[in-house]
Amino acid sequence: MNNFDYIRASDIDDALASLNTHDNGSFIAGGTNLIDLWKYNLLHPDLLIDINHLPGHHAIEEIEEGGVRLSAFLTNADTAYHPLIEERYPLLSKAILAGASAQIRNMATNGGNLLQRTRCYYFYDPDAPCNKRNPGSGCSALNGYNRIHAILGASENCIAVFPSDMCVALAALDAVVNVTGINGERNIRFEDFHRLPGDTPELDNNLKRGEIITSIDLPAKGFAKNYSYLKLRDRHSYAFALVSVATGMELDGDIIKEARIALGGVAHRPWRLKEAESFLQGKRADEHSFAAAADMMLEGAKGFKYNSFKIELAKKAIVRNGLMALDPHSQLPGAQPSA
Ligand code: SF4
Repeated sequence: MNNFDYIRASDIDDALASLNTHDNGSFIAGGTNLIDLWKYNLLHPDLLIDINHLPGHHAIEEIEEGGVRLSAFLTNADTAYHPLIEERYPLLSKAILAGASAQIRNMATNGGNLLQRTRCYYFYDPDAPCNKRNPGSGCSALNGYNRIHAILGASENCIAVFPSDMCVALAALDAVVNVTGINGERNIRFEDFHRLPGDTPELDNNLKRGEIITSIDLPAKGFAKNYSYLKLRDRHSYAFALVSVATGMELDGDIIKEARIALGGVAHRPWRLKEAESFLQGKRADEHSFAAAADMMLEGAKGFKYNSFKIELAKKAIVRNGLMALDPHSQLPGAQPSA
Protein backbone atom coordinates (compact mmCIF):
# COMPACT_ATOMS: atom_id res chain seq x y z
CA MET A 1 0.00 0.00 0.00
CA ASN A 2 1.33 3.46 -0.87
CA ASN A 3 1.73 6.33 1.56
CA PHE A 4 -1.11 8.81 1.49
CA ASP A 5 -2.45 11.92 3.16
CA TYR A 6 -5.84 12.09 4.81
CA ILE A 7 -8.09 15.09 5.31
CA ARG A 8 -11.63 15.43 6.55
CA ALA A 9 -13.71 17.70 4.28
CA SER A 10 -15.74 20.32 6.13
CA ASP A 11 -18.33 20.83 3.38
CA ILE A 12 -18.98 20.08 -0.29
CA ASP A 13 -16.92 23.05 -1.53
CA ASP A 14 -14.01 21.99 0.64
CA ALA A 15 -14.27 18.40 -0.65
CA LEU A 16 -14.33 19.52 -4.29
CA ALA A 17 -11.50 22.00 -3.82
CA SER A 18 -9.33 19.29 -2.25
CA LEU A 19 -10.10 16.85 -5.05
CA ASN A 20 -9.41 19.38 -7.75
CA THR A 21 -6.00 20.30 -6.41
CA HIS A 22 -4.78 16.68 -6.39
CA ASP A 23 -4.44 14.59 -9.55
CA ASN A 24 -4.54 11.41 -7.54
CA GLY A 25 -6.93 12.26 -4.73
CA SER A 26 -9.97 10.18 -3.92
CA PHE A 27 -13.09 10.67 -1.85
CA ILE A 28 -13.69 8.10 0.83
CA ALA A 29 -17.10 7.50 2.37
CA GLY A 30 -17.84 3.93 3.49
CA GLY A 31 -14.73 2.73 1.67
CA THR A 32 -16.21 -0.74 1.18
CA ASN A 33 -15.12 -0.97 -2.47
CA LEU A 34 -12.30 1.56 -2.41
CA ILE A 35 -10.30 -0.37 0.17
CA ASP A 36 -10.77 -3.58 -1.85
CA LEU A 37 -9.49 -1.86 -4.97
CA TRP A 38 -6.56 -0.50 -3.02
CA LYS A 39 -5.69 -3.88 -1.54
CA TYR A 40 -5.73 -5.39 -5.01
CA ASN A 41 -3.32 -2.68 -6.09
CA LEU A 42 -5.79 -1.19 -8.57
CA LEU A 43 -5.83 2.25 -6.94
CA HIS A 44 -3.02 4.28 -5.44
CA PRO A 45 -4.53 7.51 -4.09
CA ASP A 46 -2.06 9.93 -2.54
CA LEU A 47 -4.85 11.83 -0.78
CA LEU A 48 -7.99 10.49 0.87
CA ILE A 49 -10.72 13.10 1.31
CA ASP A 50 -13.12 11.89 3.98
CA ILE A 51 -16.67 12.94 3.07
CA ASN A 52 -18.43 11.22 5.94
CA HIS A 53 -18.90 14.31 8.07
CA LEU A 54 -20.35 16.93 5.74
CA PRO A 55 -22.84 18.95 7.78
CA GLY A 56 -26.45 18.83 6.61
CA HIS A 57 -25.94 15.86 4.31
CA HIS A 58 -27.30 12.84 6.15
CA ALA A 59 -31.03 13.10 5.71
CA ILE A 60 -33.89 11.49 3.89
CA GLU A 61 -36.46 14.18 3.25
CA GLU A 62 -39.64 14.77 1.31
CA ILE A 63 -39.30 17.06 -1.68
CA GLU A 64 -41.67 18.85 -4.02
CA GLU A 65 -44.19 16.91 -6.07
CA GLY A 66 -44.33 14.14 -3.49
CA GLY A 67 -40.89 12.67 -4.01
CA VAL A 68 -38.17 11.82 -1.52
CA ARG A 69 -34.51 12.83 -1.52
CA LEU A 70 -31.85 10.42 -0.21
CA SER A 71 -28.57 11.88 0.88
CA ALA A 72 -25.69 10.31 -1.01
CA PHE A 73 -23.73 10.19 2.26
CA LEU A 74 -26.28 8.17 4.21
CA THR A 75 -25.49 4.49 4.71
CA ASN A 76 -27.34 1.77 2.82
CA ALA A 77 -28.61 0.38 6.15
CA ASP A 78 -29.98 3.72 7.36
CA THR A 79 -31.70 4.12 4.00
CA ALA A 80 -33.23 0.65 3.86
CA TYR A 81 -34.66 0.89 7.39
CA HIS A 82 -35.86 4.48 7.19
CA PRO A 83 -39.64 4.61 7.77
CA LEU A 84 -40.24 6.70 4.64
CA ILE A 85 -38.40 4.17 2.49
CA GLU A 86 -39.95 1.11 4.10
CA GLU A 87 -43.41 2.59 3.74
CA ARG A 88 -43.26 4.32 0.35
CA TYR A 89 -40.40 2.58 -1.47
CA PRO A 90 -40.29 -0.99 -0.12
CA LEU A 91 -38.85 -2.14 -3.46
CA LEU A 92 -35.75 -0.07 -2.73
CA SER A 93 -35.58 -1.28 0.85
CA LYS A 94 -35.76 -4.94 -0.25
CA ALA A 95 -33.13 -4.45 -2.94
CA ILE A 96 -30.68 -2.81 -0.55
CA LEU A 97 -31.19 -5.57 2.03
CA ALA A 98 -30.52 -8.23 -0.62
CA GLY A 99 -27.02 -6.81 -1.10
CA ALA A 100 -23.74 -7.59 0.64
CA SER A 101 -23.78 -8.22 4.40
CA ALA A 102 -25.21 -6.31 7.35
CA GLN A 103 -21.71 -5.11 8.24
CA ILE A 104 -21.07 -3.77 4.75
CA ARG A 105 -24.50 -2.13 4.53
CA ASN A 106 -23.73 -0.37 7.81
CA MET A 107 -20.69 1.24 6.21
CA ALA A 108 -21.51 1.57 2.50
CA THR A 109 -23.11 4.82 1.41
CA ASN A 110 -25.74 5.48 -1.21
CA GLY A 111 -23.37 7.48 -3.40
CA GLY A 112 -20.72 4.80 -3.12
CA ASN A 113 -23.20 2.13 -4.11
CA LEU A 114 -23.69 3.86 -7.46
CA LEU A 115 -19.95 4.11 -8.01
CA GLN A 116 -18.86 0.59 -7.08
CA ARG A 117 -16.79 -1.22 -9.67
CA THR A 118 -17.50 -4.52 -11.35
CA ARG A 119 -16.67 -7.78 -9.58
CA CYS A 120 -15.24 -9.39 -12.75
CA TYR A 121 -12.45 -11.63 -11.40
CA TYR A 122 -10.04 -10.58 -14.13
CA PHE A 123 -10.49 -6.91 -13.30
CA TYR A 124 -9.06 -7.64 -9.82
CA ASP A 125 -6.18 -9.72 -11.16
CA PRO A 126 -3.34 -7.39 -12.15
CA ASP A 127 -1.71 -10.15 -14.23
CA ALA A 128 -4.78 -10.63 -16.46
CA PRO A 129 -5.43 -8.46 -19.54
CA CYS A 130 -8.44 -6.27 -18.83
CA ASN A 131 -9.64 -3.35 -20.92
CA LYS A 132 -11.47 -1.84 -17.99
CA ARG A 133 -8.35 -1.73 -15.82
CA ASN A 134 -5.84 -1.24 -18.61
CA PRO A 135 -7.51 0.00 -21.83
CA GLY A 136 -6.26 -1.73 -24.95
CA SER A 137 -4.88 -4.77 -23.11
CA GLY A 138 -7.75 -7.11 -24.04
CA CYS A 139 -10.59 -8.81 -22.19
CA SER A 140 -9.70 -12.02 -20.38
CA ALA A 141 -13.34 -12.84 -19.70
CA LEU A 142 -14.36 -13.12 -23.37
CA ASN A 143 -12.74 -16.53 -23.69
CA GLY A 144 -12.21 -17.15 -20.00
CA TYR A 145 -14.45 -18.21 -17.15
CA ASN A 146 -17.39 -15.90 -17.79
CA ARG A 147 -20.14 -17.40 -15.65
CA ILE A 148 -21.01 -14.10 -13.93
CA HIS A 149 -20.74 -11.92 -17.01
CA ALA A 150 -23.11 -9.96 -19.23
CA ILE A 151 -25.71 -11.30 -21.62
CA LEU A 152 -27.06 -7.89 -22.68
CA GLY A 153 -25.38 -4.70 -23.89
CA ALA A 154 -21.84 -6.10 -23.82
CA SER A 155 -19.15 -5.20 -26.32
CA GLU A 156 -16.13 -7.03 -27.66
CA ASN A 157 -14.09 -4.87 -25.29
CA CYS A 158 -15.82 -5.80 -22.05
CA ILE A 159 -18.55 -8.15 -20.87
CA ALA A 160 -18.54 -7.10 -17.21
CA VAL A 161 -21.72 -6.53 -15.21
CA PHE A 162 -22.54 -3.85 -12.70
CA PRO A 163 -22.96 -5.56 -9.32
CA SER A 164 -25.35 -3.33 -7.35
CA ASP A 165 -28.75 -4.45 -6.06
CA MET A 166 -29.79 -1.00 -4.86
CA CYS A 167 -29.28 0.46 -8.32
CA VAL A 168 -31.62 -2.07 -9.94
CA ALA A 169 -34.45 -0.74 -7.77
CA LEU A 170 -33.37 2.88 -8.38
CA ALA A 171 -33.53 2.21 -12.11
CA ALA A 172 -37.04 0.77 -11.82
CA LEU A 173 -38.13 3.77 -9.75
CA ASP A 174 -36.82 6.32 -12.29
CA ALA A 175 -34.54 7.93 -9.73
CA VAL A 176 -32.52 11.05 -10.48
CA VAL A 177 -28.90 11.51 -9.40
CA ASN A 178 -27.94 15.00 -8.19
CA VAL A 179 -24.30 15.94 -8.55
CA THR A 180 -22.20 19.01 -7.79
CA GLY A 181 -18.95 20.04 -9.44
CA ILE A 182 -16.81 23.09 -9.95
CA ASN A 183 -19.16 24.14 -12.76
CA GLY A 184 -22.24 23.89 -10.57
CA GLU A 185 -24.99 21.36 -10.06
CA ARG A 186 -26.62 18.99 -12.51
CA ASN A 187 -29.21 16.22 -12.40
CA ILE A 188 -28.71 12.94 -14.22
CA ARG A 189 -31.61 10.61 -14.96
CA PHE A 190 -30.79 7.20 -13.53
CA GLU A 191 -30.98 5.55 -16.92
CA ASP A 192 -28.26 7.95 -18.11
CA PHE A 193 -25.98 7.54 -15.12
CA HIS A 194 -24.32 4.17 -15.82
CA ARG A 195 -22.80 3.41 -19.20
CA LEU A 196 -22.57 0.41 -21.48
CA PRO A 197 -18.95 -0.63 -22.12
CA GLY A 198 -18.77 0.10 -25.86
CA ASP A 199 -15.27 1.28 -26.77
CA THR A 200 -14.64 2.82 -23.35
CA PRO A 201 -15.09 0.06 -20.78
CA GLU A 202 -12.85 1.92 -18.37
CA LEU A 203 -15.75 4.34 -17.81
CA ASP A 204 -18.49 2.89 -15.62
CA ASN A 205 -20.69 5.96 -15.45
CA ASN A 206 -21.14 9.54 -16.60
CA LEU A 207 -19.95 11.25 -13.43
CA LYS A 208 -17.11 13.58 -14.41
CA ARG A 209 -13.81 13.89 -12.60
CA GLY A 210 -14.26 16.76 -10.13
CA GLU A 211 -17.94 16.01 -9.45
CA ILE A 212 -19.53 14.52 -6.37
CA ILE A 213 -22.90 12.83 -5.97
CA THR A 214 -24.83 14.76 -3.32
CA SER A 215 -28.25 13.09 -3.35
CA ILE A 216 -30.65 10.79 -5.17
CA ASP A 217 -34.25 11.80 -5.82
CA LEU A 218 -37.08 9.29 -5.88
CA PRO A 219 -40.21 10.34 -7.77
CA ALA A 220 -43.52 10.17 -5.90
CA LYS A 221 -44.54 6.87 -7.45
CA GLY A 222 -43.03 4.12 -5.30
CA PHE A 223 -45.17 1.09 -6.31
CA ALA A 224 -45.54 0.29 -2.61
CA LYS A 225 -48.55 -1.96 -3.15
CA ASN A 226 -47.26 -4.24 -5.88
CA TYR A 227 -43.52 -4.73 -5.93
CA SER A 228 -40.90 -7.42 -5.59
CA TYR A 229 -37.13 -7.77 -5.73
CA LEU A 230 -35.81 -11.19 -6.64
CA LYS A 231 -32.12 -11.98 -6.46
CA LEU A 232 -30.78 -15.27 -7.79
CA ARG A 233 -27.24 -16.14 -6.81
CA ASP A 234 -24.90 -19.05 -6.23
CA ARG A 235 -24.95 -18.63 -2.45
CA HIS A 236 -27.94 -17.79 -0.29
CA SER A 237 -26.34 -14.66 1.16
CA TYR A 238 -23.34 -12.39 0.72
CA ALA A 239 -23.06 -13.06 -3.00
CA PHE A 240 -23.58 -10.97 -6.11
CA ALA A 241 -26.54 -11.61 -8.36
CA LEU A 242 -26.36 -13.93 -11.30
CA VAL A 243 -29.68 -12.35 -12.21
CA SER A 244 -31.86 -10.00 -10.21
CA VAL A 245 -35.18 -8.38 -11.02
CA ALA A 246 -36.91 -5.33 -9.58
CA THR A 247 -40.59 -5.16 -10.45
CA GLY A 248 -43.08 -2.44 -9.56
CA MET A 249 -46.64 -2.36 -10.82
CA GLU A 250 -49.77 -0.30 -10.56
CA LEU A 251 -52.83 -2.48 -10.98
CA ASP A 252 -56.51 -1.92 -11.67
CA GLY A 253 -57.96 -5.19 -10.46
CA ASP A 254 -55.92 -7.76 -12.33
CA ILE A 255 -55.09 -5.40 -15.19
CA ILE A 256 -51.70 -3.70 -15.32
CA LYS A 257 -51.94 0.10 -15.47
CA GLU A 258 -48.19 0.62 -15.29
CA ALA A 259 -45.22 -1.72 -14.96
CA ARG A 260 -41.55 -1.25 -14.32
CA ILE A 261 -39.04 -4.07 -14.67
CA ALA A 262 -35.30 -3.68 -14.19
CA LEU A 263 -32.72 -6.46 -14.39
CA GLY A 264 -29.44 -6.69 -12.51
CA GLY A 265 -26.46 -8.98 -13.01
CA VAL A 266 -26.95 -9.12 -16.78
CA ALA A 267 -25.33 -5.95 -18.15
CA HIS A 268 -22.89 -3.15 -17.48
CA ARG A 269 -25.78 -1.18 -16.02
CA PRO A 270 -29.25 -1.94 -14.67
CA TRP A 271 -31.28 -3.08 -17.67
CA ARG A 272 -34.74 -1.84 -18.59
CA LEU A 273 -36.71 -2.09 -21.80
CA LYS A 274 -39.47 0.48 -21.99
CA GLU A 275 -41.13 -1.34 -24.89
CA ALA A 276 -41.68 -4.37 -22.66
CA GLU A 277 -43.12 -2.18 -19.91
CA SER A 278 -45.45 -0.45 -22.41
CA PHE A 279 -46.49 -3.84 -23.75
CA LEU A 280 -47.69 -4.81 -20.28
CA GLN A 281 -49.98 -1.79 -19.99
CA GLY A 282 -53.56 -2.95 -20.21
CA LYS A 283 -52.60 -6.62 -20.06
CA ARG A 284 -53.75 -9.07 -17.42
CA ALA A 285 -51.15 -9.45 -14.68
CA ASP A 286 -50.47 -13.13 -15.20
CA GLU A 287 -47.79 -15.59 -16.16
CA HIS A 288 -48.58 -15.31 -19.84
CA SER A 289 -48.13 -11.52 -19.93
CA PHE A 290 -44.93 -11.57 -17.88
CA ALA A 291 -43.50 -14.32 -20.08
CA ALA A 292 -44.16 -12.26 -23.20
CA ALA A 293 -42.51 -9.21 -21.60
CA ALA A 294 -39.56 -11.40 -20.55
CA ASP A 295 -39.09 -12.59 -24.13
CA MET A 296 -39.02 -8.96 -25.26
CA MET A 297 -36.50 -7.98 -22.60
CA LEU A 298 -34.13 -10.83 -23.46
CA GLU A 299 -34.40 -10.45 -27.22
CA GLY A 300 -30.87 -10.11 -28.59
CA ALA A 301 -29.31 -11.48 -25.42
CA LYS A 302 -26.05 -13.25 -26.10
CA GLY A 303 -24.39 -15.75 -23.82
CA PHE A 304 -20.78 -16.79 -23.67
CA LYS A 305 -19.25 -20.19 -22.92
CA TYR A 306 -20.24 -20.35 -19.25
CA ASN A 307 -23.15 -17.95 -18.85
CA SER A 308 -25.75 -18.77 -21.52
CA PHE A 309 -27.90 -20.22 -18.74
CA LYS A 310 -28.54 -16.65 -17.61
CA ILE A 311 -30.82 -15.97 -20.58
CA GLU A 312 -33.41 -18.54 -19.54
CA LEU A 313 -32.81 -17.77 -15.87
CA ALA A 314 -33.58 -14.08 -16.47
CA LYS A 315 -36.79 -14.91 -18.31
CA LYS A 316 -37.98 -17.18 -15.53
CA ALA A 317 -36.98 -14.61 -12.91
CA ILE A 318 -39.04 -11.90 -14.62
CA VAL A 319 -42.12 -14.14 -14.63
CA ARG A 320 -41.66 -15.29 -11.06
CA ASN A 321 -41.01 -11.78 -9.80
CA GLY A 322 -44.05 -10.42 -11.64
CA LEU A 323 -46.21 -13.01 -9.89
CA MET A 324 -44.63 -12.24 -6.52
CA ALA A 325 -45.30 -8.53 -7.01
CA LEU A 326 -49.03 -9.28 -7.11
CA ASP A 327 -48.87 -10.08 -3.41
CA PRO A 328 -45.59 -8.85 -1.94
CA HIS A 329 -46.48 -10.15 1.52
CA SER A 330 -46.74 -13.77 0.48
CA GLN A 331 -43.47 -14.15 -1.37
CA LEU A 332 -42.64 -17.49 -2.90
CA PRO A 333 -40.16 -19.63 -0.93
CA GLY A 334 -36.57 -18.52 -1.25
CA ALA A 335 -37.49 -15.28 -2.94
CA GLN A 336 -36.32 -12.83 -0.31
CA PRO A 337 -33.36 -14.43 1.41
CA SER A 338 -31.92 -12.47 4.27
CA ALA A 339 -28.36 -11.30 3.74
FE1 SF4 B 1 -11.89 -6.51 -17.84
FE2 SF4 B 1 -14.42 -6.12 -18.58
FE3 SF4 B 1 -13.04 -8.11 -19.64
FE4 SF4 B 1 -13.69 -8.24 -17.06
S1 SF4 B 1 -15.12 -8.26 -18.75
S2 SF4 B 1 -11.73 -8.75 -18.01
S3 SF4 B 1 -13.65 -6.06 -16.51
S4 SF4 B 1 -12.59 -5.93 -19.85
